[in-house]
This record gives sequence, C-alpha cells and structure tokens, in this order.
Amino acid sequence: MPELPEVETIRRTLLPKLTGATILSGEVLHEKMVLGITAEEFLKRVSGRKITDLQRRGKYLLLELSAGTVIGIHLRMTGQLTVEAADEPPAKATYFRLFLDDGTELRFRDQRKFGKVFLFEKGKPPASLRKLGPEPLSPEFSAAAFKKRLAQRKLAVKKALLNQEIVAGIGNIYADEALFEAGIHPARAVNSLTDTEIDALFQAVIKVLSAAIESRGTTFRDYRDGEGRSGAYQNKLKVYGQKGRPCPKCGSLIAKMNFGGRGTHFCPLCQI
Ligand SMILES: [Zn+2]
Repeated sequence: MPELPEVETIRRTLLPKLTGATILSGEVLHEKMVLGITAEEFLKRVSGRKITDLQRRGKYLLLELSAGTVIGIHLRMTGQLTVEAADEPPAKATYFRLFLDDGTELRFRDQRKFGKVFLFEKGKPPASLRKLGPEPLSPEFSAAAFKKRLAQRKLAVKKALLNQEIVAGIGNIYADEALFEAGIHPARAVNSLTDTEIDALFQAVIKVLSAAIESRGTTFRDYRDGEGRSGAYQNKLKVYGQKGRPCPKCGSLIAKMNFGGRGTHFCPLCQI
C-alpha cells in the first residue's frame, strides 16, 4: 500500500503535469470508487474546472480545482495515478479517467478496486481528513506533540504508529523501519517507553520518511510514481521484507512475526 513517501512522490511527479490544466470531462468504470455521490454527478461537478494545485495530507492526494472544489484521492492497496497522453490506450484496470484540455488524461488504475475518490469544498474536509494526526514532516509534528499524543496509551507502539490519528501517513513498511531505527520492539506498550525512547522514535520517523522520499518510495509490486516509474527505497530497507537476512547493525537474523494481522519485521537483538 502506498504510504506517505510514495504518495508524496506521486504528488511531486504529477504536480507540474496537472497544474493549469482544465478538466473537460471524464469516465468512471467502477461506480463504487466515487464516495457520496454518483459518478455522473461527480463528473458534472469537476468538468470545466481548472486544476490549481495538488496537495497531500497523510496518504491522501488532494487535487484542488478552481472555485474551491477539491478532489480527494485515496489509493489504498493497489491504486496507481498517472498522467498519460490521451491517444495512449489505458492500461488494464484503469477505472477512472479525467480528460484534460492539454491532450492528456489523469488515470487511476486499481487492480483490487479499493481506491476511492471524493469531492469536498475547500476548508470543509470530510471526517476522514479532519481526524488525521499531524503531518510527520511538518513543523506541527514536534517531539512534545508526539509525546502528548502517545501519553498514557497502553497500545503497542507499532499499532500507535499505524494509527492515522496519532501521526498521519505511516503504514506497515515505515512503521517497521522507524522502530528498527529507534531500537524499539514493535510490541512494546506505548506507556512503557521512556522519554529517551520516544525522542528516538520521533527522530526515526522523520529520518526514515525523508530518506524514503529521497529514494522516491518503495516498490514491492504495485507502487509506481506519477510517471509510471518504480521507487528505489526497497533497496535500502533494513528490516521490512528482510526476514532471515543479517541485521545491518548487529548481524543477527531479522525476524518476522504476525502482529495485529500485519507482518512485522524486527531485529530480536537490537529491538528489545
Ligand atoms: Zn540487530
């Protein structure tokens, strides 16, 4: 599933291609992708609007249109978002297209059909966006704020990192990587962490996410950026997907356990 670094990479690759273009019309081949209104109503409301910006919040992309309308896009499991020439045939599983006035199309391809699009008026985001925690790479994400959000919670630290209301944008890959970086076992209860450990985790989250953006995200299977290219951070992962390989810090073998339904990777020696 694309997490913050992948969604941010998509945003950066699509921004220059989309800004300034006008949406002429579109096509929705999987009606359930559109939340709240019919696909027909959705296309009616975006047609004729100019794209003014592409923002990101957590794992959501926010395509801003003239007159204050925003298209929210959630790629979920297998969603891919690209801009392609209109005369290029769409790839299989392309269920959503917006036809632009410069001869290109914004295409949303989604093998598993879990992806969603929705409309809202700028300044009036739906609950799914309102309840998101701070952006981990923005100034609003401070060690003090992180500590406060974690305070008194009994849940396991990995679950806390995956909770989008505590901090936005982290999924399975970067939760495992950040916990390794901080030397914290994924199953530790949040209320057992020392201040030093929370500080280390705070730094680790920022470090891991920034490095992953620099490498344009992690591609295991489906993730592609806005130009259809794979990321490169899969070559730099230290624990995620590395079961049985030597830990880069101590050399013991990386372990994998099932934790809350998610495959969780860690070093049994470095993360106690
Ligand atoms: Zn180790």
